[in-house]
Amino acid sequence: MSFEDKIRRVEPYVAGEQPKIAGLIKLNTNECPYPPSPAVKETLRELEEESDRLRLYPDMDAQELVDAIAAHYGVASERVFAGIGSDDVLAMCFLTFFTGGEEILFPDVTYSFYEVWAGLYRIPYRLIPVRDDFTIDAADYIPAQMGGRAAKPAGGIIFPNPNAPTAIEMGQEDIERIVSSNPDCVVIVDEAYVDFGAASALPLTEKYDNLLVVQTFSKSRAMAGSRIGFAIGSPMLIRYLKDVKFSFNSYTLNLQSIKAGRAAVEDDDYFREITGKVIRTREWFAQELRGLGFDMTDSRTNFLFAKPLFMDTGELFRKLRENRILVRHWDRPRIGDYLRITVGTDDDMREVINVIRKIRGEI
Ligand code: PMP
Repeated sequence: MSFEDKIRRVEPYVAGEQPKIAGLIKLNTNECPYPPSPAVKETLRELEEESDRLRLYPDMDAQELVDAIAAHYGVASERVFAGIGSDDVLAMCFLTFFTGGEEILFPDVTYSFYEVWAGLYRIPYRLIPVRDDFTIDAADYIPAQMGGRAAKPAGGIIFPNPNAPTAIEMGQEDIERIVSSNPDCVVIVDEAYVDFGAASALPLTEKYDNLLVVQTFSKSRAMAGSRIGFAIGSPMLIRYLKDVKFSFNSYTLNLQSIKAGRAAVEDDDYFREITGKVIRTREWFAQELRGLGFDMTDSRTNFLFAKPLFMDTGELFRKLRENRILVRHWDRPRIGDYLRITVGTDDDMREVINVIRKIRGEI
């Protein structure tokens, strides 16, 4: 056996590009177009004065941040787990909760990192096709003996709500049916985009010990650069999650992220202001796009999943890029005809509309 045969080989996740070119309108990774709360800036300025503190390790429990999240959502701190963005939290979840050897289930059109973690940890999985209109059919996740269509009980279930990249929200009744009819596995709802007009499954975590909700500061709190994510669930799930985290890397969140994250979550007015702005921009932009000849799903996120009806999607992606507009396109079955366009500022979106008009030869 050569050394190469002993190496763990995986197909990594491919994130949207972070271009070095100045002047691009960057609508490809669902970041927030607005800055973080002024309280975050203030906190970082204060920390600058105290840079001596960087000699010390940060609080491995990130307690200050965990307590602030718990207070904001009205739950006990023992129900909250924090990590380095929701990617880190989700990676820890796969490692902690999906070890039964049975297949875990997730949609075929969804966040493509799920397949990567399953591959990395050698977790068997089954992709459940979404309907032709990209909605998730809850019955596909409910075992047959509980009245659904799943042939056997799952080893775990995970899906984003709203789903990505489809932007579609699943109703809370369907989520509750999935959770209540799968009491023998952990169900994870990835709510990365929930703050842009969708309902959260958080209240259900008080009722179901097998439900974990994961959220992020990257989108609705405009802090993708700080890498803060968290999970809320039963104290038992959180304890198991912490045990695995402390067996992997104790010091995850750094001092700045803990402090700045706390400041962000405590500024609820600002949070409402920027999420409200993104939602308003999304609504008029969606209407404009429809007028220009796009078909799209009903978005409850900070992006649109839109299909041009007037030209080839790959071609439009390239033309937008030539005009300094960066969006996301996957040359993959089922979603190859669609673009995922992050909602930026009103000015950004006006420019997108102008460029599309130009591409269509209208101006
Ligand atoms: N879940 C979904 C569905 C996402 O789209 C993303 C963003 N790429 C994440 C989780 C991870 O976001 P972050 O690690 O920045 O919290």
